Amino acid sequence: MVKICCIGAGYVGGPTMAVIALKCPGIEVAVVDISVPRIAAWNSDQLPIYEPGLDEIVKQCRGKNLFFSTAVEKHVAEADIIFVSVNTPTKTRGLGAGKAADLTYWESAARMIADVSKSDKIVVEKSTVPVKTAEAIEKILTHNSKGIKYQILSNPEFLAEGTAIEDLFKPDRVLIGGRETPDGQKAIQALKAVYANWVPEDRIITTNLWSAELSKLAANAFLAQRISSVNAMSALCEATGANISEVSHAVGKDTRIGSKFLNASVGFGGSCFQKDILNLVYICECNGLPEVADYWKQVIKVNDYQKSRFVNRVVSSMFNTVSGKKIAILGFAFKKDTGDTRETPAIDVCNGLLGDKAHLSIYDLQVTEEQIRRDLSMRKFDWDHPIHLQPMSPAAVKEVSVVWDAYEATKGAHGICILTEWDEFKTLDYKKIYDNMQKPAFLFDGRNVVDVEKLREIGFIVYSIGKPLDS
Ligand code: NAD
Repeated sequence: MVKICCIGAGYVGGPTMAVIALKCPGIEVAVVDISVPRIAAWNSDQLPIYEPGLDEIVKQCRGKNLFFSTAVEKHVAEADIIFVSVNTPTKTRGLGAGKAADLTYWESAARMIADVSKSDKIVVEKSTVPVKTAEAIEKILTHNSKGIKYQILSNPEFLAEGTAIEDLFKPDRVLIGGRETPDGQKAIQALKAVYANWVPEDRIITTNLWSAELSKLAANAFLAQRISSVNAMSALCEATGANISEVSHAVGKDTRIGSKFLNASVGFGGSCFQKDILNLVYICECNGLPEVADYWKQVIKVNDYQKSRFVNRVVSSMFNTVSGKKIAILGFAFKKDTGDTRETPAIDVCNGLLGDKAHLSIYDLQVTEEQIRRDLSMRKFDWDHPIHLQPMSPAAVKEVSVVWDAYEATKGAHGICILTEWDEFKTLDYKKIYDNMQKPAFLFDGRNVVDVEKLREIGFIVYSIGKPLDS
């Protein structure tokens, strides 16, 4: 029986390995992590991450051919194929701080693999890493090899949180990069055989190592760039009376452009887009390409601008101050169908409003109070000072209450900000909400989910991103 071990039981390691276990009953899959609570959660009824469809798969496979364990070394030693899916955050100190990827977790995983391995291994980069990381990993492994042969593959993950299971079941493509040597090609075929259990052959792309590593950074940069492009247009729409929904529809009808990912919003978030673009910027700078670096930097600048533009719109609409006013925040996760709040625009919007002394009442369907309080006391990214700055004062964080109902959150509020596109926010009883709010009642839709005309008929003053403004 082929044995797979995945180091890192996070948003990527957990779901990807659960799907491999489901689709490949003949493969034993162990997902290992140094975090004891995370593994305990994977082994409980309350999984550590929320992802539609994941619970059922884990329930079906756990204990049969899917195992979650903290016995990292044991499972690594036994495995034929080792996926490494550890976190690769932005470095916060030292060379490249604020931009470069922090490969500490990767390096320690590689050293551990070298320490405990007693048979030949295929080591798969599942984490998003800078181009040429495989070269560094090869050095660590071969210099400590004790006669064992390692083949490094790059197999970046393209799933999106919230639709991870769907994406894994029917991937647009599976990308596998490897060395062009006979052993490298043999390793590619071994990994390809795993995916071939459910992914059609024409969707499995094989490349050289560096193309695979760079393609993941490129894909995230292109996706984020698309969001910043539409958001930049949304600002121009508001200034001119054009409507971003109409513009997106018209632009997206061009088959060269396509209609997906053209929704204007308060900005992109998530653990990947900003981190991966910063990483790309750093790689460009290190390779003597400052103009290319500047081009990608702009994607993040526009995203930051969109968030501050939103906060300014809220404050200026509410008679230039939100001091002492109650504002309901509907949605805190960085997108719907996830409880993940990493880099969510809600952090910056809430901190901006708290900075003007607003009282916030926050409601999200999946995010815990603990997460919200931790995030709001986090530091904010700032290009001029590339390392995270401006922690929120503990006093300001006290002006936050976290509630478990949209009606409770909005009761007595002066304004509402919708920051996540949860389906529930489309179908709330806005008449009831309006009746229980201070007047005039403001609604700022950061995700363009509400029916603006209906809400205006009720009496709300509505601001929607990139749409004609209320007079
Ligand atoms: P995560 O933080 O949720 O999970 C990483 C896990 O690795 C953590 O549980 C951590 O405890 C564990 N870990 C770290 N060092 C370890 C070690 N030495 N031994 C064992 N376990 C260790 O991160 P994630 O969101 O799953 O992302 C993982 C990688 O995948 C990142 O490089 C990310 O950029 C990339 N990625 C993420 C997504 C996404 O949507 N989250 C999508 C595609 C790619």
